[in-house]
Amino acid sequence: MLNIKIEQTKQKKEKPKDMPFGKHFSDHMFIMDYSRDKGWHDARIVPFGNISLSPAAMVFHYAQELFEGLKAYRTESGKVQIFRPEKNIARMNWTCERLCMPEIDPQDALDAIEAIVRTDSDWVPSEPDHSLYIRPFMIATDPYIGVKISGTYLFIIILSPVGAYYPEGIDPVKIYVENEYVRAVRGGLGFAKAGANYAASLKGQERAQDMGYTQVLWLDGVERKYIDEVGTMNVFFVIDNKIITPSLEGSVLPGVTRDSCIHLLKDWGYTVEERKVALSEITEANKAGKLNEAFGAGTAAVISPIGTLNDNGNIIEINGGEIGPIAQKLYDTLTGIQWGKIEDKYDWTLEVQ
Ligand SMILES: *Cc1c(COP(=O)(O)O)cnc(C)c1O
Repeated sequence: MLNIKIEQTKQKKEKPKDMPFGKHFSDHMFIMDYSRDKGWHDARIVPFGNISLSPAAMVFHYAQELFEGLKAYRTESGKVQIFRPEKNIARMNWTCERLCMPEIDPQDALDAIEAIVRTDSDWVPSEPDHSLYIRPFMIATDPYIGVKISGTYLFIIILSPVGAYYPEGIDPVKIYVENEYVRAVRGGLGFAKAGANYAASLKGQERAQDMGYTQVLWLDGVERKYIDEVGTMNVFFVIDNKIITPSLEGSVLPGVTRDSCIHLLKDWGYTVEERKVALSEITEANKAGKLNEAFGAGTAAVISPIGTLNDNGNIIEINGGEIGPIAQKLYDTLTGIQWGKIEDKYDWTLEVQ
């Protein structure tokens, strides 16, 4: 068991009424320090507040930073549960490896997540479709502006209550195919949950939004031919009742939602192909009337159907701009398990007591 010192806040904040994604934070945060000689040490829960760092702290200069994202849900009986946290912890440690950052013992990381959620369990909303977003992250803190691997780090977990992603029901989104900018390349950081990937994605995202689109469809960085991801989600296509999703070959983030979808779909008897998916395959399937559905999958929205794709001015409408039956069934099943409305036969949820 990780030994965690808890300093309770003297002034509890008022709970927000409105919970747009990522705007409000709970009363406390988890912090732990790393140094080469001591390893990870001084695990503590303290009141949420600013932290003080040298302006030379390496994270500010060379982006040695990673993050994770998962959620805690309140069930109808009032219990609090987290969805597949061990998957996020495993992914965090792969990201550590890629960014030369110190891994955290998986049990210690889980103890930290459970402890901060337990401390602020009154921040897990009970309104329908609301949840508590958990944001663990790690930063390099050596006060040094030469390029090297930092010898000191901070690991922090903050919590943010979030409202329903689709207050008016699931609305399929319009997606712009980005043919110029790329998010990641094989051999780079694409498979890692690194803030640097997001810095690289902003330009494409801005262009898509300026043109009236919600998100970007990212193509591979070498040939700009194969599909990687959609916005900050993994992507699935249904062609002729077969399910196809880009394989994890270095530039695609291994999503927990992606993995859960593949699991469910196979369990329901569908054929799921994880392989390279050329954009031309999708446009041709659409022309032939065989493209039944397309949707993104990620923790924030769970499932986000794609209604329209704009490929260089060539507009593809999918499933008449409506959510398809497979996307709907995945959404209902995943959210059903997460909020404890349907049986969790896969043992995906962890109750926080
Ligand atoms: C986090 C993330 C996803 C989704 O992963 P989940 O574990 O399902 O939330 C997909 N793509 C990118 C680029 C991401 O950062």
